[in-house]
Parts: sequence; structure tokens; C-alpha cells
Amino acid sequence: MKKIKLSKKVNRKPLLVSNDYSAETHLIYGKAYTEKWDYSHHLVPPITSSATFRLESAQRGAQGFVEFAHTSNEPDIPGPAPIYIYDRLGEPNKDMLEENLALAEAGEACVTFGSGMGAISAALGMLTATGDEIIAHNILYGCTYELLTRWYPRYKINVKFVDLVSSRNLQKAISPNTRVVYFETPVNPTLDIIDIEEIADIVAEENKKRKPNRKLYVVVDNTFSSPFCQRPLEHGADFVVHSLTKNIGGFGTDLGGAVIGPLWSRDLLLLFRKDFGAVLSTKSAWSVLVYGLPTLPVRLRQQQQTAMEIARFLLANPKVEMVNYPGLDNFKHHDRAKKQMHDFDGNFAPGSMIYFVLKGKNPEDSRKRGEKFINFVAKNAYTITLAVSLGNIRTLIEHPGSMTHAAIPASEQIKKGIDPGGIRLSIGLEKVDDIIRDLKEAFDNI
Ligand SMILES: *Cc1c(COP(=O)(O)O)cnc(C)c1O
Repeated sequence: MKKIKLSKKVNRKPLLVSNDYSAETHLIYGKAYTEKWDYSHHLVPPITSSATFRLESAQRGAQGFVEFAHTSNEPDIPGPAPIYIYDRLGEPNKDMLEENLALAEAGEACVTFGSGMGAISAALGMLTATGDEIIAHNILYGCTYELLTRWYPRYKINVKFVDLVSSRNLQKAISPNTRVVYFETPVNPTLDIIDIEEIADIVAEENKKRKPNRKLYVVVDNTFSSPFCQRPLEHGADFVVHSLTKNIGGFGTDLGGAVIGPLWSRDLLLLFRKDFGAVLSTKSAWSVLVYGLPTLPVRLRQQQQTAMEIARFLLANPKVEMVNYPGLDNFKHHDRAKKQMHDFDGNFAPGSMIYFVLKGKNPEDSRKRGEKFINFVAKNAYTITLAVSLGNIRTLIEHPGSMTHAAIPASEQIKKGIDPGGIRLSIGLEKVDDIIRDLKEAFDNI
């Protein structure tokens, strides 16, 4: 391989790169000192609204291409100012956001993408090739499921769907071709919890038998929890993927995605983004950097406190058959949730998503009641909006039985663990009494 000569390091101490400050504060200030923008004068980084960048000379342009996707293995030592060439390769806003996201997930490196699906495609695309196999949990975000079932067969990448809630099923499913184990936890929409550590231990055992270039990797979609409530890398996962559109963005204004993982993966992810093109726009990167990520802890802390109260309110309602919320003592995976869902200070952090099931005479009756409930809320509620997506400052409601999973007949839905009367709530920042008032009114009308 051709030897690459990188620019000389500048021997300059970072003004403030310290682990003495909390993760929460880091999400506001990042590395504080950075060569990526004029730190000495701006309080807030400017939006780098430039598709292409001025190069001082042909030599400097050439140097930029040489340095692109050649990440130093000493990322914390500040080097010379980066050479920016073209937005798709990298620019200051995405770079700064990526540093902060890596920190939030306790990972070594992060690369952002134009959407959550862009990030998922990149993580799986980088780790697999024709003939490889992916093992995925049997319930997934709809578009991830379609990616694996509509497109991957074309590339002869086999996908096995397995119930990973019981990790023993994984052991039986692994074959020499398996390269990725992929899941979301809590699972959408049921909020079942998959034990990350158990899965990672099985994979580590399998990897002892494998050559370094045939390793098996654990990829977790952490969109539902956000890094405030759960950091899968701390429990042994290799990669985390995110839809920044949800909790991290928080305000529902921008689409975005991210992959966080080991340092060696950064260059591959950058090359993948360069060539497949799912680039996060600078304006969206800036919103997440300046508004989304710094407010994540304060939003989530409030939202999960409200979620706990709403979950208790639902549990006490005679028209409700069942409530799944990781924070409830009687939730079937409460202990698992307590083991792996923690905020930055180690407190139990059960998140802002609730799934509940309405009572009905039979599955079809449940589905009809669910639909009626949702339609009443859509027309009459002030604080609850019928919409897909989640992790927004506004409370969102969705009925998987008649919406996202409507194509599946009621009896099949039950087999997959999706109750036809099930309703998904994503709790926002409204005052809890107002949300309860709107829910009460809807219950009185079904
Ligand atoms: C929304 C979502 C995605 C996809 O993210 P986009 O930003 O919409 O592409 C992936 N996984 C989960 C769990 C999601 O909720």
C-alpha cells in the first residue's frame, strides 16, 4: 500500500478537553477549543453554508485528498486545522456534531448521515458483502425491515429473523457466514427489552473462534432510548445507529442519522458516505449541534418523569388491558431495563415511550377501539398529535394495528407480539395534567 504522509501535528494543548466535567456539560461545549471554527470570537459556531471550500494551492488540495478518510489513531491530540474540500467529504458543523455524538454514546468515533436509514444502510453496508448473513430481531423499524427483505436479497446477503428477547435463540442461529447481529431495544412498538450484554457475550464467545477479518459485530439501533437513557457500547455492542430525527434532534425539524463505533470504522464510514451520498445537510447538523444535543438531557429527564406519571394513569384506567413502560415495577422486563437503561449519572432512565393495549371482546374489537381512540385524539386533543415519528417535544400518538402494521392481519399481528388494540405514545414536554386531561376525554368517548 502507498505510504500516506499526513500533515505535521501542531504542538498545541487543547484549551479544555477534560473528563472532569460531566457528559451533560460536554454536550453543550464539545471540545471547547477546536480548529474547526473561529473559536476565539464566536460563541455559537456559524452554519458553514458552503458546498465547496477554498484551497490555498494545488498542493494543499492534494494534501486534503490524502488526509481524507485517514483518521489519526490519536484523535484527542489536536492536529493542524483540517483541510476541507467538499461538503460530502466533511465540513466543520458535521465534524463538531460527530465529536459530540461519539462522546454522548461513549464511542471512539461517529459519522453522521442524511437520515436514520442512511446511517443504518452505511453500518450494514460497511460490515457485509455478498454471501454474508445478518441475524436481526424479528420486529424492526419498518424501513429497516424493508431494507433487509427488499434490497439485501439482491446482493445475496441473507437475513435470518430471530426472537432475540431470548438470547439463547441467537446461539442456535449463528452460522460461519453471520457477520452482524442487529436489533433495537426497547423494541418498537412493544418496548420489550433485549439484553445487550447477553447478546454481546455470545458474540464475543463466537469471535474467539474466528479470524480477525471474519468477526461478528453487534449493531444496536438506540433511537428509542437516546444516549441519555442507554449507551449500548458500554454493554458490549460494537456499533450504535441513530435516527437524529427523533430524540437527539428533539424538535422534529430535521432528518438525520449517525453511526457510532470503534475508531477503525470511521474511515470506512466516511468513504461509504462519500460514495453512497447520504450526507447530513450542514443546516441540519447545525440544528442538532446547537439545539438538539445540548438540550437532550433536560428534555429527556422531564419527558420520562411525565411518562412515568402517564404510565401510572393508564395502568389505573379500567378500559386499559395492559401498559408496557420500562419504568413500571410490573413491566415484564423491568429488571432488564434497570440493568441497562441508565442516564449519564447512573440513574435508572426508562425513556419517554409508552405502549398500552385497550380492552376488547376479541382482537378485531380491540383494533376497532384502538382506531376509535386514535381518531378521537386526532380530532379533539390539544396536547397529543396523531403522527408517526417520536422523541419530539410534542406528545405523539400512533396505532400500529391500523397504521404502521395495518398490512398484517389481526391474527398475524398477535403472533408477532403486536396487539391489534395496542397504542404507542411518545411523551413530549407538555404539562402532565394537560396530557392526562386529553387522554381522559378520549377514554370517555370510546
Ligand atoms: C425513525 C427511525 C429510523 C429511521 O430514521 P429516519 O431518520 O426516519 O431515516 C430508524 N430506526 C428507528 C427505531 C426509528 O424510529
